[in-house]
Amino acid sequence: MTVDDLKALVRTVPDFPAPGIQFRDITTLIAHGAGLSAAIGHMADHVRRAGAEAIAGMEARGFIFGAAVAVHEGLGFIPVRKPGKLPVPTIGVDYALEYGTDRLEIDPTAVGQGERIVIVDDLIATGGTALAAIELLRSAGAVVDRAVFAIDLPDLGGAERLRRAGVEVDALMAFE
Ligand code: IMP
Repeated sequence: MTVDDLKALVRTVPDFPAPGIQFRDITTLIAHGAGLSAAIGHMADHVRRAGAEAIAGMEARGFIFGAAVAVHEGLGFIPVRKPGKLPVPTIGVDYALEYGTDRLEIDPTAVGQGERIVIVDDLIATGGTALAAIELLRSAGAVVDRAVFAIDLPDLGGAERLRRAGVEVDALMAFE
């Protein structure tokens, strides 16, 4: 499957979650067996080239892509969770959204000191979510210099923000 084939499997939903926003919906991509398999295979190629020792994915859609890529590569998976979900002492980071703030948490004992962790998520928009996850994983001792996404929305500048934070970004497709 070509990147154009994969791109055609992403559904665009107008005015969600707010008027004027074109929501790129991966539900239709992951429902397609060959499409999902090809997307995971391409993302795994990037992860392998990055020399990943483990994968981290953000709740919730990052779990779908991140866990599948981890299994594909025989690597462990670290869930970056919404607050209050992990049953053990956590470290967390608050980050700004367009309106208000959100929080991500990890179990710091899941991260090896100096371990090279690659972030995997469905989509990068402003990069705020990924930057929060990177800060958290680095504070737990990880080396994070690569992130892999199915979709990049380059107009929102997230990939550029990650590069400025020392993290190279790979994405299978972009929507301008
Ligand atoms: P960011 O923090 O602005 O980069 O937003 C990225 C996060 O929001 C990701 O975890 C995405 O799942 C979600 N997101 C933002 N915009 C979209 C979209 O158009 N489609 C699907 N998810 C989105």
